[in-house]
Amino acid sequence: MSYDVIVVGAGIFGTTFVNLAAKTGQKVLLIDKRMHIGGNAYSEFDAQTGIEVHKYGAHIFHTSNQRVWNFVNKFSAFTRYSHRVFTTHRRFGQPQVFSLPINLATVNQFFNKAFSPVQAQKFIRDLIEQEKVDNKKIANLLDQGISLIGRPLFDAFIRNYTAKQWQNPVENLSPEIITRLPVRYNYNNRYFSDLYEGLPARGYTAMFENMLKHENITVQLNTNWFDIKKELLCKNPDALIVYTGAIDEYFNFNLGQLNWRSVEFDFKTVDIPDFQGCPVMNYADLEEKYTRIIEFKHFNPERNLSTEKSVIAYEYSRTWETGIEPYYPVNTPEDKKIYKLYKQQADELFAKESVIFAGRLGEYSYMDMDKVFLRALEKFDELVNNGTM
Ligand code: UDP
Repeated sequence: MSYDVIVVGAGIFGTTFVNLAAKTGQKVLLIDKRMHIGGNAYSEFDAQTGIEVHKYGAHIFHTSNQRVWNFVNKFSAFTRYSHRVFTTHRRFGQPQVFSLPINLATVNQFFNKAFSPVQAQKFIRDLIEQEKVDNKKIANLLDQGISLIGRPLFDAFIRNYTAKQWQNPVENLSPEIITRLPVRYNYNNRYFSDLYEGLPARGYTAMFENMLKHENITVQLNTNWFDIKKELLCKNPDALIVYTGAIDEYFNFNLGQLNWRSVEFDFKTVDIPDFQGCPVMNYADLEEKYTRIIEFKHFNPERNLSTEKSVIAYEYSRTWETGIEPYYPVNTPEDKKIYKLYKQQADELFAKESVIFAGRLGEYSYMDMDKVFLRALEKFDELVNNGTM
């Protein structure tokens, strides 16, 4: 069988692209080295408890982009889930649970106050001013953090959590990492501020399966691109290749290795109907080696799961090395330089072999799920408009 388009990697970018390409009448092959579709958004229903378990960590869909929201809703209904996270931190040696992202409840509990929004803002502003950070010279995550919330809250909720998560002291990390995390001077504790949020009503995998239901689509799992490349390109040397694996690996690391952070999950089924009372509990201190515990049943309160058990996962950050899954680009200044060179190499390759690099691993970019859907929709438009497809 010969294909017009070959997509390597059945994650969000890959499945979206395949869906769009198939509808134009092209014959499309989607391959993945894993045994399942969905990439890191993959989930499965635990056989014993019926609980949907996100196998690669908590994935909450949220977006403010109307085009992305319309697109995903073609393949699944979405629940009304809205994400709320708590964190455990030892205040004066005593573990306490605080609300995240840092909001008025967090500030008042932490400082033992009953501030109004204006009072809290002034109080935090005074703490920030004491630090005398020059906003024009923010060099690392430490400067960024204390110029946003002052030192006491930074030390409690950000410093150690971030160091655990990125396996690096905050002085060595890039400031952008925490610009993701809002700080609010009201009691709104929704984790995300997007217009739309929810989870696929019948699970992530059902949504991806619906995206791939088309006669022009062939899915081949447990398949490594480099094992079948020669044979497939012999059949159609002009096939468009969309590669969503790690860009440095594709080029056999010829320009050096990009830094990734990996994650490891320790899944447990416990004989407790409700283990922690919320879907995600972060652990802000160094005493716990894990960064957070996920309790999956709380993602789907609408399912009324009657089980007396619960499935939880302890999440540990790991430094990436060859052979383990890359999750997050670390993006040090050196990484940025190396990526730029790989990108040039990739652009040159496109002229010769029609390979495009895409997705979180292909573009070495820390993107939320909705950004990846959007990138795929826009990349497809671009290729149609410039006559590639
Ligand atoms: N963060 C933190 N403390 C927390 C939660 C988040 O310091 O309790 C910081 C940390 O630097 C992290 C960033 O905010 O890398 C983004 O966190 P989030 O949980 O949104 O990232 P995810 O890993 O879920 O993409």
